[in-house]
Amino acid sequence: MTKKSSKDAGPATPGQTTTGFKGNKHYLPSKLCKTCGREMTWRKSWAKNWDQVLYCSDKCRS
Ligand SMILES: [Zn+2]
Repeated sequence: MTKKSSKDAGPATPGQTTTGFKGNKHYLPSKLCKTCGREMTWRKSWAKNWDQVLYCSDKCRS
């Protein structure tokens, strides 16, 4: 007589790492516009001069 039932579940998979995603992409720096105070999120076009970016748009810059 076997005690095993047909409903036996297989071994649970530990840690579901489906992708090799490191998860660093969620963090993007942001700062506030000097003129309107709106939060600006880092853009790729600002990568070179992020430190110099003070305004969210040309309108705020002028
Ligand atoms: Zn602004």
